[in-house]
Amino acid sequence: MKQEIAFIQSEELKVKPKADSLGFGKYYSDYMFVMDYHSEKGWYEPRITPYEQLILDPAAMVFHYGQAIFEGLKAYKTADGTIQLFRPEKNMKRFNESCDRLCIPQIDENFLLKAIKELILIEKDWIPEGDGTSLYIRPFIFATEPYLGVRPSHQYKLLVILSPVGAYYGDQLSPVKIYVEEQYVRAVIGGVGHVKTAGNYAASMKAQEVAEAKGFAQILWLDAKENKYVEEVGSMNIFFKIKGEVVTPKLNGSILSGVTRDSVIQLLKHWNIPVREEKISIEEVFAAHERGDLEEVFGSGTAAVISPVGELNWNDRSIEINHQKIGQLSQRVYDEITGIQLGKKEDPFNWII
Ligand code: PMP
Repeated sequence: MKQEIAFIQSEELKVKPKADSLGFGKYYSDYMFVMDYHSEKGWYEPRITPYEQLILDPAAMVFHYGQAIFEGLKAYKTADGTIQLFRPEKNMKRFNESCDRLCIPQIDENFLLKAIKELILIEKDWIPEGDGTSLYIRPFIFATEPYLGVRPSHQYKLLVILSPVGAYYGDQLSPVKIYVEEQYVRAVIGGVGHVKTAGNYAASMKAQEVAEAKGFAQILWLDAKENKYVEEVGSMNIFFKIKGEVVTPKLNGSILSGVTRDSVIQLLKHWNIPVREEKISIEEVFAAHERGDLEEVFGSGTAAVISPVGELNWNDRSIEINHQKIGQLSQRVYDEITGIQLGKKEDPFNWII
């Protein structure tokens, strides 16, 4: 795509929030990137415009048949003011995989990355500088054609919005209580769980609500067919350290291929820590705990980077992991990845752009 990106200046800029009040996804920057699609024109009119409300037809297909996908990545400011992205090409690729699964037309990955960089340069003052803070980047696409027949839409909108976010866990990682879900499922093989469709998250909320009412922070999802194998934790991938070896569920068509997951695996290999991607049952996890071999459990994802698990509750049985303390490996992986993202550590994998 060789199109120029138009720029429409805002008449008024917002007051930026204070670094200690950021939270997650509460504030949005002054500008957004927008591009439209029509089956007769392809993607057209890429532009950076003031952040503003959208006008949509009530019959827009997204409201009825749910063609909506998204991505999530972050921009970081280093101590010397350099702006860094972490493996953004992987998000662009996964975006197209999501497009493919929902019959949304493909985007030009290089062009979108260029557009995101342009947007961030305009909005560089929105990248917070406090420890653990970043500018969350949310690209998304949805169907806009007004039509009520069930088929892929002929028209779409792609937007990128930016949100300054705080450190997920404040000063320190904090282990969370997890409920192993047996009634509801997140994703099935052949379904859409391996990509980022909005509907996946809508479908996950009921179980999350029930678990929260029971006092748990997140759900651990099992496979939909046998209710036996571990898949993901909340909206994160999951890792178990068992007797010095690390195991994470193998990508099987219903697990999202996390950018952080891939980075953790590469790091562990680099450190010569044995790591295996394979099917692991919840029964095996509990048996490992019984033997005293379950050393650490943690989730991985863009929002929290690493999220230690302190307790697992399955079938009314509760196990405590590492005395609810942050595991050494969890902390080491967290420090390394956040160190690379913030330009405090070397980047031997060329992850930073
Ligand atoms: N699983 C799900 C369901 C997710 O929504 C996310 C967040 N994108 C992840 C895993 C972690 O992926 P990533 O490391 O790319 O953020």
